[in-house]
Amino acid sequence: MVIVMQKHATDANIERVVEELSTRGFDVHRSTGSDQTILGVVGNVGTIDTREFEVFDGVQEVVRVSEPYKLSSRTFKREKTIVKARGVEIGGNDVVVMAGPCTIENERQLFETARRVARAGAKVLRGGAYKPRTSPYAFQGMGVEGLKLLRAAGDEMNMATVSEVMEISQIEGMLEYVDILQVGARNMQNYNLLSALGQTRKPVLLKRGMSATIQEWLLASEYILAGGNYDVILCERGIRTFETYTRNTLDISAIPVINKLSHLPIIADPSHAVGRREKVMPLARAIVAAGADGVLIEVHHEPEKAVCDGPQSLYPEQFARLMDELRIIVPAVGRAI
Ligand code: PEP
Ligand code: MN
Repeated sequence: MVIVMQKHATDANIERVVEELSTRGFDVHRSTGSDQTILGVVGNVGTIDTREFEVFDGVQEVVRVSEPYKLSSRTFKREKTIVKARGVEIGGNDVVVMAGPCTIENERQLFETARRVARAGAKVLRGGAYKPRTSPYAFQGMGVEGLKLLRAAGDEMNMATVSEVMEISQIEGMLEYVDILQVGARNMQNYNLLSALGQTRKPVLLKRGMSATIQEWLLASEYILAGGNYDVILCERGIRTFETYTRNTLDISAIPVINKLSHLPIIADPSHAVGRREKVMPLARAIVAAGADGVLIEVHHEPEKAVCDGPQSLYPEQFARLMDELRIIVPAVGRAI
């Protein structure tokens, strides 16, 4: 961290800042220029709130030069992390496609959709059993009965499974049925949940919060990693912006940015980003072209009858066509599918 003093800062101003840093156990490297002093701060500066020093008399600016996250950073681990879930590797050379309905509704719906996405090449089956619905009157999910169906469909189609966990009390009961525990956008900052997931040894798919910065998202992943669970997959799912035409705005730049800052696998969910079926395919193409390790897509065998998110769910034949398109794009960016 660097503290830039104002041009007219007095020696007393500078001494006061140095004294405070020393009291807190930091080493201070002082650089005195002809008209300005700069203080280099060395130590565990991740715990400092930069505003604490910005309010000191004579301070012009406090700049962090190292990331506040550690375990998730490329500085900590240079080589990419590969997360393994029931034989599927996420973060390796293969781009992994995860697909399925927004929510598990019944056996026929799940198995029919699973069969179609598996045949098209999806490796991971998605389906929510605990749903974070905006309205308390909307369908809240089938709970454990849904998870049993998800496991059975996954086993039959030879697919790994991913489903959302909303609170700590659900974790234990999900471990048996789910290969990847999803943390939804609304829970990205539920730090108690993240810490509890850090205690498990199950891969976690951490969605980006609707208005989370990339730094906040990486710090959220840090809660899981700090508990010793290193199997974290990041998932960009669109952020809230001033645009109202689409459900959210897919931040495609998050993909190369995360690839630079972090070793964790990065995938993206075009379905929740755009919210309209006809826009999901072009976004999915852009996601893999941008270097993502995978895509998470909502597919329903009869989307017009879907209980949840039908308008953004692909028809199985659209999904199959998208897979064909991805098979053309993926080799162009040096990957396989
Ligand atoms: C989901 O994937 O089912 C979901 C609710 O997504 P998000 O948390 O991104 O809204
Ligand atoms: Mn959904």
